[in-house]
Amino acid sequence: MRIGIYQNDGPISHKVADELALALRQHGIALDNKTPDVVISVGGDGTLLGAFRHYINQIHTIRFVGLHTGHLGFYTDWLSDEIPALVAALVHDNGQSVDYPLLSLTVEYDNGKRQEHLALNEAVVKQPMGTLVADIYLGGELFERFRGDGVSVSTPTGSTAYNKSNGGAVLHPNLSAIQMSEISSLNNRVFRTLGSPLIVPKGEEIIIEPAHSNFALMFDQGMIATNHVKRVRFKVAEQRVHFAEYRHVNFWRRVHNSFINDIE
Ligand code: NAP
Ligand code: MN
Repeated sequence: MRIGIYQNDGPISHKVADELALALRQHGIALDNKTPDVVISVGGDGTLLGAFRHYINQIHTIRFVGLHTGHLGFYTDWLSDEIPALVAALVHDNGQSVDYPLLSLTVEYDNGKRQEHLALNEAVVKQPMGTLVADIYLGGELFERFRGDGVSVSTPTGSTAYNKSNGGAVLHPNLSAIQMSEISSLNNRVFRTLGSPLIVPKGEEIIIEPAHSNFALMFDQGMIATNHVKRVRFKVAEQRVHFAEYRHVNFWRRVHNSFINDIE
C-alpha cells in the first residue's frame, strides 16, 4: 500500500506530517505522493479540500484520511496525538472505506462548450458587487428569478459548511442529494423567491442562468472565470469520494462534535 501525505502550511502540520512519515517508514509502509492508495490530509477541513483538489484525477482509486491539527476538522477522524493508532490501522488495512456524494457542476459557455467540475463541499454563484439576478430552473422548467447576493449548492457533507450559514439543513450523506440555499435573497412585493433551502435528488438538475455577466462562480476553495459563461448545471455527481474508515464515526456524532460539544 502506498501512502501520500498532504499537509497545510502551518508549523504544527509540518511537525505532525514529519512524525507521521517517520512512523510510517518505521513500519515499512511506502510513501508515494504521486500515485497513492491512501492520502492522509494533515490539517483541517481546508487542507482536506486542498487534498481532494490536488488528487482530483485519482479520486476513483484514492481513499482519504483526515488527521486533525487544529481548527474545526469536520472531515478529520484522527487527532495529532493518535499517530501510533493511525499507523497501526494502516498496517492492518484491508480496504475499509466509506463513500460520500459529490456535486457535479457543468459550466456551459456561449459557444456551446461545456466543462464539468466536482466539488466536495459546494459551489456558489455570487455577485460580489450589486445584486445577482439569475433564473433558476428545476425539473427542466423555470422555477424562479432569483435576486440577492447569491446561491449555494452543497453536497451532504458540505451541508455543514457554507450551506449551514445560509440556514440550510444538515443532510445525512447516505442521501444522494444536493441542497440549494439562498444567500440574502431579496423578497418583497416586486421580487419573489422560494425563500427556503431545497433538496434535489440524484438524477435531477438545478440550472442557474445569471441574467448578466461579471458574476462569480466558486467551488470549494476555487474560482472559475465566468467570461462567456451562459449557465451552470448542478447535479449529484456519478463519482463519489472515498474515505478510509478504520473506525466508524457516526455522522451525527461528527455533527455534534463540530457544533454542540463545547457549548455548556
Ligand atoms: P475557512 O474560511 O477556513 O472555512 C470556514 C470554516 O468552515 C472553517 O472552520 C472550516 O474548517 C469549516 N468547514 C469547511 N468544510 C466544512 C464542512 N464540510 N463542514 C463543516 N465545516 C466545514 O476556509 P476553508 O478551510 O478553505 O474552507 C472552505 C469552505 O469554507 C468552503 O467550502 C465553504 O463551505 C466555507 N465558507 C463558508 C462561508 C460562510 O459560512 N459564510 C463563507 C465562505 C466559505 P477548518 O477550520 O477545519 O478548515
Ligand atoms: Mn480552514
